[in-house]
Amino acid sequence: MKKIIIAIDGPAASGKSTTAKLLARKIGYVHLDTGAMYRACALAAKRHQTNIDDPSQIMKIMSDIKIDIQYSNNGNLIFLDGEDVSEEIREPDISRLASAISAKRHVREKMVELQRELGKSGGVIVDGRDIGTVVFPNAELKFFMIAPLEIRAQRRYQELLANNKKANFQEVLRELKERDLADSSRVLAPLVPAKDAIQIDTGDLSIDEQVDLLYGYYQNLMVGS
Ligand code: C5P
Repeated sequence: MKKIIIAIDGPAASGKSTTAKLLARKIGYVHLDTGAMYRACALAAKRHQTNIDDPSQIMKIMSDIKIDIQYSNNGNLIFLDGEDVSEEIREPDISRLASAISAKRHVREKMVELQRELGKSGGVIVDGRDIGTVVFPNAELKFFMIAPLEIRAQRRYQELLANNKKANFQEVLRELKERDLADSSRVLAPLVPAKDAIQIDTGDLSIDEQVDLLYGYYQNLMVGS
């Protein structure tokens, strides 16, 4: 059967990554979490105390950076210069820095190139902000996942608590709101739905329902092809 590219875009905590991971498992595809790649860039910048507003410093860090991804049943493992940083990149300060650094041209160029390389053979579900618009505009199936801000904040808050992290609901809410605004108003690859993306509001859906819904679209497409 033909191996296609499935793009899933949407704001933070809209359910993209979890749905992508489970759907990939169900259809035997790999899941590529592109947010994790920008997070790894942010961690590199933090470690090198890079001034991200200085293009020459950004260029230096992006020419030296080495990001590797290992696919596992439990999601992507992200390696920065050979070190597994999958946990560390989930810290809230890295979320903010990832959003800021991902607006920089050199960062996006390098990451988009890597993402295209990783996804070129198909059989992949790629989640992010610009997958259906910029990275894989010809993806056979595109989704844009949304959910009300309060619900997304509640999910992220519960996730932090479940991982024994300190969390304050109002702070989580504010952080998501700021990141949504920055991601959708930036000049380069802003968060917008592709014209041919199927919009899914996950606000009232359980994870299983989200996976089943997307799987239904996938099956319809494959039957018709
Ligand atoms: O998806 P996640 O919340 O892990 O992404 C972290 C940040 O990386 C986002 O807020 C966004 O600024 C950036 N990002 C991006 N393009 C992508 C994926 C993520 O700009 N394809």
